[in-house]
Amino acid sequence: MSQSDGADAPVDAVVVGAGIAGLSAARELLAAGLRVVVVDKGRGLGGRIATRRIGSAVCDHGAQFFTVRGRAFGGIVAEAHAAGAVVEWCGGFARPGSLGPETGRDGHPRWRGVRGMTDLPKQLADRLTAANDGRCVVRTETQATAVAIDGDRVVVETKGGHDRILARGGILSPPVPQTLDLLAAGNLVAPAAGGDEPETIATLRDIAYDPCFALLLVLDRPSRVPPPGGIQFDPADGGPIAWLADNFQKGISPIPALTIHADAAFTRQHFDDPPEEVTALLIDRARAWIDGDPATAVVAKSLHRWKFALPTTIIEAPLVAVSEQPPLACCGDAFAGPRVEGAASSGLAAGRWLARVLDRG
Ligand SMILES: Cc1cc2nc3c(=O)[nH]c(=O)nc-3n(C[C@H](O)[C@H](O)[C@H](O)COP(=O)(O)OP(=O)(O)OC[C@H]3O[C@@H](n4cnc5c(N)ncnc54)[C@H](O)[C@@H]3O)c2cc1C
Repeated sequence: MSQSDGADAPVDAVVVGAGIAGLSAARELLAAGLRVVVVDKGRGLGGRIATRRIGSAVCDHGAQFFTVRGRAFGGIVAEAHAAGAVVEWCGGFARPGSLGPETGRDGHPRWRGVRGMTDLPKQLADRLTAANDGRCVVRTETQATAVAIDGDRVVVETKGGHDRILARGGILSPPVPQTLDLLAAGNLVAPAAGGDEPETIATLRDIAYDPCFALLLVLDRPSRVPPPGGIQFDPADGGPIAWLADNFQKGISPIPALTIHADAAFTRQHFDDPPEEVTALLIDRARAWIDGDPATAVVAKSLHRWKFALPTTIIEAPLVAVSEQPPLACCGDAFAGPRVEGAASSGLAAGRWLARVLDRG
């Protein structure tokens, strides 16, 4: 096992989570000349930026597009665009009442991955691991089971990869309830709220997320979704569909395939219902955009439950430090701004913070 594995000798930084926040943090750490290990429990990279194949169909089932408003994330997107990983999709989406095009168009660019949304995190990870001398290692299928502090080291216990990673500092980017579980397993916070815990931890405990069902449907013919291939529903429309997209029109699937996101109220209400029942309810509500009888037009389907889809509380700080010595911080889309861009900006801020503290130390 080499030193850069972090298993037998401390690396500079360990990052838990290879979603857009964790990868963005690693980017800053690497730019500061540090050695970094990133671990993710998933088989692939990207977390809630997720693309799935069903037969020959390709569907984005987490984040559907991203926008760029700030310079920091703009730099990442510009690199990905130059590398052919992301393209502009459109300037707005259709409204549900119409079968006409882009009635919700505001002209602000919506971006997508060229072959699917995961092209963005994959390209970012490729740059991290290719453009250096082994200073950055990204390990998938490596689940952190506890995060602790031992003297001046952050210790990440893992299963599926190495047993433990020792580092001079750490960044935790999973959804906050999962981060709190890791900290509790490492005895850095209590298992539940109460007592006189620091305000920072109490702040983290207040962060909650909406769940979201994502239903993927492969069709035997083109859908009736209007150009540019996405419909954004308003909560005032009454639900239960929040988003509906045609991945073929979007340009990522060689055959027609829909992604349907349920709203938070519906998902909460039906979270533990049998998947076949939830699927049937959602197909029924999506009939207007499926050409023909769904019993024959839908040739394959898959339902996914996102437990922590979108944060309902966004705290103002771009990161929260759990420990200063050794430095350990949390980041992600619940910090300073939601969505893909917010998560990336939070990760970049956390990476810069950790690099600064390690430099001082
Ligand atoms: C259904 C849905 C639709 C969305 N639509 C949009 C959209 O259209 N536009 C938009 O901008 N945003 C959208 N979002 C939000 C966007 O996907 C997120 O804000 C963003 O991807 C969050 O990135 P993150 O890095 O903070 O977290 P995540 O992507 O959740 O990354 C956290 C990572 O940590 C890993 N992890 C967790 N626990 C452990 C552990 N114990 N050990 C190791 N690894 C661990 C996870 O596997 C994951 O990869 C959507 C989200 C969902 C779910």
